Amino acid sequence: MKHVTQPCQKTLFLSPSDVAGLVHNQGMAATLQGLEAYIRQDFSRWSSFDKSARLASHSPDGVIELMPIADGAHYTFKYVNGHPKNTSQGLPTVMAFGVLADVSTGMPMLLSELTLATALRTAATSVLAARALARPESRVMALIGNGAQSEFQALAFHHLLGIKEIRLYDTDAAATAKLMRNLQANPDTAGLRLRVCASSAEAVFDADIVTTITADKTQAAIITAGMLSPGTHLNAVGGDCPGKTEIHPEVLAAAKVFVEYEPQTRVEGDLQQMPPGFAVTELWQVLAGDATGRDSAAQVTVFDSVGFALEDFSALRYLYAQARGHGLGQSLPLIPRLEDPKDLYQLVRPAFSSASGLLDAGAPVRPVAEPVLE
Ligand code: NAD
Repeated sequence: MKHVTQPCQKTLFLSPSDVAGLVHNQGMAATLQGLEAYIRQDFSRWSSFDKSARLASHSPDGVIELMPIADGAHYTFKYVNGHPKNTSQGLPTVMAFGVLADVSTGMPMLLSELTLATALRTAATSVLAARALARPESRVMALIGNGAQSEFQALAFHHLLGIKEIRLYDTDAAATAKLMRNLQANPDTAGLRLRVCASSAEAVFDADIVTTITADKTQAAIITAGMLSPGTHLNAVGGDCPGKTEIHPEVLAAAKVFVEYEPQTRVEGDLQQMPPGFAVTELWQVLAGDATGRDSAAQVTVFDSVGFALEDFSALRYLYAQARGHGLGQSLPLIPRLEDPKDLYQLVRPAFSSASGLLDAGAPVRPVAEPVLE
């Protein structure tokens, strides 16, 4: 009997432990640096991309989003959710995976975990924005929201931007204790001072940079007018969905606001609270030298981050290059390889029995029970 199934074309698969292995191999600082460089490179060729706001499916407890983007050579998408109550059920708030495909054929080249990679690329993007917008002498950062993303933010700002003191605050003291433990156990953070604070106001007081990265599906006002010192850079990461904000509108009104992709941030960012005419600058314009960043040392700047598909494009591109360079990941037989590409039926063609000269029809087909919706 001729075996009709051909070897499959190969898609590289990266699991969470592959991506973690990559971070272990090259170190957290080098990984974040590499990602920042890839993201900067892609933001610098903004006009090469076919861009759109992500497609969101909302439900009472969260959101599931698809984030596609392409240039002439590659197409990527990320599947990502945001369910703030998930942690009480033992699941992360944010879970993600994504694909990098070849535009010329449509062949998926990489299927990768992106839960860990999202935390890495978000931290790298935060630093990219802060490098362009914060005062260069910034050394103290408040970190409000000490959940899954927080270590990555802390390490990125320490390693890449020279932050020397981080003030931690979360409404959940256990989350802050976890962040403290993780950072204290890290041999690369010996020069980093950590201070647990009793409130957002205490953490934020006189800080050079404030990162808000909380998760709550509500119109919160964690940062209110009067809390920020002149010259603060606010890295507002957690307000990223309609009805889910962190920053009081008066703070935005008094600041210069920067966004990733304006059509998406108008709907999802803290910017959703502002009138349609409220002026913002897209980050790529500053990176390209087409717009100024902060106008004075005393100005408050806000990076209203929601997470844009371009950052995942860069992350997937980076992961693919590193995985191929280091021989990481597994080949995944996701797409069938066909002897005759017009003959897809060959995969399910009944086998020919040489003894009888008859088609081997296999076992008789039994009626299928009514499908049950689980
Ligand atoms: P997480 O659930 O692990 O942690 C969130 C933390 O926020 C929790 O510890 C919670 O106790 C705390 N919190 C909630 N309300 C608070 C408040 N009022 N004051 C202080 N702390 C508060 O979630 P995570 O994975 O760390 O994600 C954090 C947020 O970042 C989410 O909203 C997520 O959607 C967002 N996010 C944004 C991007 C982006 O690119 N902009 C990327 C990833 C995640």
